[in-house]
Amino acid sequence: MEYIGDVFYEYGGGLYANLTNRCPDRCEFCIRYMVDSLGGADSLWLKREPTMDEIKELLSEWDLNQFYELVFCGYGEPTERLEDLLETARYAKSLCPKIKVRINTNGLSDLINGRDTTEDLRGVIDAVSISLNAKGPEEYLALCHPRFGLKAFDAMIDYTRRVKEVIPDVTMSIVGGTIPRDDVEPCRKIAEELGVKFRIR
Ligand code: SF4
Repeated sequence: MEYIGDVFYEYGGGLYANLTNRCPDRCEFCIRYMVDSLGGADSLWLKREPTMDEIKELLSEWDLNQFYELVFCGYGEPTERLEDLLETARYAKSLCPKIKVRINTNGLSDLINGRDTTEDLRGVIDAVSISLNAKGPEEYLALCHPRFGLKAFDAMIDYTRRVKEVIPDVTMSIVGGTIPRDDVEPCRKIAEELGVKFRIR
């Protein structure tokens, strides 16, 4: 198949999957507005989205045994292609049953897909990392400019609460250099109250 951008790339010892460039946010710190690639990738901007057949073909070119985890991340929000993400994860586990699968997400999957999507992840996804990014709805709106407006933040919190019931390993993260210092502790408290891990990245 022709080169359409890097669908899979190596980064920090993991294999990363970049299935889409769609995203409902426009975060001011988003790396994709600064550089075209990361890790072993040449370009994470996709000329078009790969089909499911192409994703399987590309994935089978990698030796999954050399990676601890497969991470859905890339230059877009992975849950924009939720069904394909899950099929890719299942396919990866059929090739390498010991591989862990993580989703790095903005937590807006339910708004994107118009329903509760947390149950879909059961038994397929091992870890979810959610970008909290801000301490409240106004701050999130000002930093991430979600197309869903002010309701995005509460939807992300609600998603976290429910996904924690399905997935044992859930982390919320903030971007250290972006968030006002005084907002770090309130963010940590949000994660604590939800009973999930907290990470400054
Ligand atoms: S949610 Fe992620 S991909 Fe989307 S704009 Fe924000 S940092 Fe970029």
